[in-house]
Amino acid sequence: MAAIVLDGKACGAEVEAAVSARVTLLKAAGISPHLSVVIVGDDPASHVYVGAKERACARVGIESTRIDLPDSASFSEVVSVVERLNSDSSVHGILVQSPLPVGMDELAITDLLNPAKDVDGFHPENLGRLVQGRADGLVPCTPAGVVHLLEWGGVEISGKRAVVIGRSRIVGLPVSLLLARKGADATVTIAHSRTSELAETCRNADLLIAAVGRAELVKGDWVKPGAAVIDVGVNRVEDDTRERGYRLAGDVDSEVADVAGYLSPVPGGVGPMTIAMLMQNTVQAAENQQN
Ligand code: NAP
Repeated sequence: MAAIVLDGKACGAEVEAAVSARVTLLKAAGISPHLSVVIVGDDPASHVYVGAKERACARVGIESTRIDLPDSASFSEVVSVVERLNSDSSVHGILVQSPLPVGMDELAITDLLNPAKDVDGFHPENLGRLVQGRADGLVPCTPAGVVHLLEWGGVEISGKRAVVIGRSRIVGLPVSLLLARKGADATVTIAHSRTSELAETCRNADLLIAAVGRAELVKGDWVKPGAAVIDVGVNRVEDDTRERGYRLAGDVDSEVADVAGYLSPVPGGVGPMTIAMLMQNTVQAAENQQN
């Protein structure tokens, strides 16, 4: 039996509609929510992601500005842009697109962000709230999108065994914290590159979250029949039959669709959820700064 598709486009569109209504209320109160995106260098994938974020802002009525810095920009140039945006009261959200050029300390830049404007949710104050079990701050967008997609799809989380493959500060670790916190109540195992018997670990999961960055790593026989599988991965796989020379693949093999009960597609699953959650964080930041 084919898995039920967890459609991130449909779920994300509902989130965006709710954000749009909140934007309208803010504008009626004289506040125009504003996201500023800083992009350093010319990584083609980053430019695609930033373009998608700008289009989402336009859809929901959030003002967006984009600050392009060259690959040769120095650390102190990036710092001075962040400091200027921190003190600009017309800017409610700041996002510094990852990755920064090789050698530039991304964590040091994150530390400098005003936590109230940190719409990526990566500042230690926002991640620290998650560690405290609080989801009332700015929660990282991809992890928040994963959990929202599960809830929207009617997937039971409480009391279930979740396995998260990946422990990055961007996806794996925060999604594990969100699933384990009181109120969500999953029992979470975090797997990573040193995990022994990964396939067997995954087979125990009612909820399997793959955030690895290895194309089609998760096979059909890694998955418990009926499990909900969220594929976070976005990987480029060489493909000479495509005009662009590659195709996009998730971390989950297509054969998983025959075993899982629920599956998020790539593309069209977690990607649109991440963007919708960024819009939600930006409107949340603007509302918080109003008070
Ligand atoms: P990351 O920082 O590279 O982390 C990858 C994690 O996977 C690490 O914890 C690593 O373990 C683990 N890992 C690597 N190879 C493994 C293996 N063979 N077996 C088990 N674990 C393994 O990547 P990320 O930023 O978390 O992103 C993960 C994927 O999600 C990427 O494909 C990325 O493009 C995608 N992504 C998608 C979105 C979206 O919006 N759709 C957003 C963010 C990321 P160690 O810690 O031991 O190294």
